[in-house]
Amino acid sequence: MKPNSEWKSCLTPEQYQVLRQQGTEGAFTGKYYNHHGVGIYACAGCGQELFRSAEKYDSGTGWPSFWKAADSSAVKFKKDSSHGMQRTEVLCARCGGHLGHVFEDGPGPSGMHYCINSAALEFEKEPAAKTDLVTATFGAGCFWCTEAAFNTIPGVQSVQVGYMGGRTANPTYNEVCSGKTGHAEVTRVTYDPQQVSYGRLLDVFWQVHDPTSLNRQGADVGTQYRSVIFYNNDEQKKTAEKAKARLTAEGKYNRPIVTGIVAASEFYEAEDYHQDYYQNNPDAPYCRMVIAPKLKKLK
Ligand SMILES: [Zn+2]
Repeated sequence: MKPNSEWKSCLTPEQYQVLRQQGTEGAFTGKYYNHHGVGIYACAGCGQELFRSAEKYDSGTGWPSFWKAADSSAVKFKKDSSHGMQRTEVLCARCGGHLGHVFEDGPGPSGMHYCINSAALEFEKEPAAKTDLVTATFGAGCFWCTEAAFNTIPGVQSVQVGYMGGRTANPTYNEVCSGKTGHAEVTRVTYDPQQVSYGRLLDVFWQVHDPTSLNRQGADVGTQYRSVIFYNNDEQKKTAEKAKARLTAEGKYNRPIVTGIVAASEFYEAEDYHQDYYQNNPDAPYCRMVIAPKLKKLK
């Protein structure tokens, strides 16, 4: 057991008052009574994990309240008859620090209500979970261009070109070019939503093609070159619809936007020689004359 003099030197006056002198901070004054972070509340004295955000609730008392300890061995109890009341004191099982009291008016199955002083706790935020990557699929004319553009965007993890939205399973490039499969040339972007938003991807999508051009982009003519957003979930759908409405309202284009917004269907990966076309063929005339200038203009 550390002597009090040592505790005094390593705790703030508030922490010392609560943990070592059985003090109680004023209601609604502590830093955690209205705190909603996701993580653990450790003992401010010894660092032991005491409570978790998952079991924290708003008791209305002005003190952080939990209906369960992180582990039943993390805390210990002691009868407390001070201040003319019969209460049960809660202590840190490791360092013996006073944490608060426990009552039996809690909301959980046990009915326990750990009423704890903020000063006895140190919140540790849970490390952000590794985010799941999300995909987004766009048709904006020749997929060589769109792939090259999305590859320049930070947060984009990978980009593949392929076909979507038609009737033919496993179509070849030549079949898609005939216009008879119903497929569009598409670019499928796999991205980290923590690093880049779907809205930002849409910005790029609008910039790399002319969304007012029906079934055609420049010299590329046919439904396979249609302007289309294939959404993967409701959120993408709403974001895309809003973006389209906003561009229309802003009067950015002289003609109506013809971009389709439809649910994603099976993605058929295009032949290998189409993947990373710009990276692999930077000197091809199409890359130099069409793609490179587009990338330069990208904002
Ligand atoms: Zn402790």
